[in-house]
Amino acid sequence: MKRIIPLLLALSCMFALCACSPVAQQSESFIMDTIVTQTVYASDNSVVRQNNQILRDIENEMSKTIPTSDIGRMNAQNVQDVEISDATAQVLQACIEQAKVTGGTFDPALGGVVAAWGFGTDNARVPGEEELEGLLAHTDYNAISVSANENGQSVANAGGTQVDLGGAVKGYALDCLAQNLADNDISSAILSLGGSIYAVGTKPDGSAYKIGIRDPFGGENDYMAKLTLDGKFVSTSGTYERGFTQGGKYYFHILDPETGHPAESGLAAVTVICTSGILSDIYSTALFVMGAERGVAFAQEQGVDALFLTDDKRVITTDGFAEKYGLTVTNKDYHE
Ligand code: ADP
Ligand code: MG
Repeated sequence: MKRIIPLLLALSCMFALCACSPVAQQSESFIMDTIVTQTVYASDNSVVRQNNQILRDIENEMSKTIPTSDIGRMNAQNVQDVEISDATAQVLQACIEQAKVTGGTFDPALGGVVAAWGFGTDNARVPGEEELEGLLAHTDYNAISVSANENGQSVANAGGTQVDLGGAVKGYALDCLAQNLADNDISSAILSLGGSIYAVGTKPDGSAYKIGIRDPFGGENDYMAKLTLDGKFVSTSGTYERGFTQGGKYYFHILDPETGHPAESGLAAVTVICTSGILSDIYSTALFVMGAERGVAFAQEQGVDALFLTDDKRVITTDGFAEKYGLTVTNKDYHE
């Protein structure tokens, strides 16, 4: 009997540990036109499932390709005030504010121009100069207004401008998922949503989450560097995403709002790390348009960390980037 009691105690402790200790809950889904992967350390898969639902809800509210979404209805011709969700209002307002902060290099009113290029669709093509000029004349983020009606419902008016939040929504969505992890007391997870990633805590073996920076000149699974991430958001904008070749020239989906053409800033990719998902997403696009020199100055002014990869494989970062994130360049073709 004396021996049985400690044995029973040990067994019940082991059982308690097994029942509570979190295990890797993994999920891969396709939402918002992108691959979503999650590893969340939790006792069951409820948080992972909630996260997928949060993403579907955001897509249904903010996708420009869903006609019934807030943005779809705003972009429909001849509409005045459109009722939108508070979440869409929040994202729209953040985008308009950041359009001002970034000197218009991030522009949520570029929808008409983006649609003309047709990136990622069967209708990808180079629009004519006149067509682009006509579309740019109707590209004005100041024309987009967000307010509340007498019922307190958020309303928006795009003033005939085509809204495209494609450069911000994935980052915003990651903010929502990170909040859901915190609400559920999750202390270890890594989430990836297209070019945006969030990681919190450490892996069960105590090591930090590491992420790879894609080699913009390599294939889908080629990385040029790795870094560690804890409690922050990282977004990358690169030439390799959704591009097409016409007449021997390569065209990609990050547009310079000044010209309506893919931004020729001497860059192949920009990675931004900060404590906000939506800002990391917006700034990766904006800094790409700005180019390395202006981009470094802007990032430092805003207190965000950034890494620029130039067309000639130089690596340029904001101050202290390598030390902060344990940056290791693994592809020796890249140099400072
Ligand atoms: P991804 O959507 O592949 O993660 P980005 O975050 O860089 O890439 O966003 C690019 C998307 O943002 C484009 O597909 C387009 O919809 C939109 N976009 C392109 N250029 C700009 C710009 N200068 N400002 C705001 N949005 C832009
Ligand atoms: Mg972006």
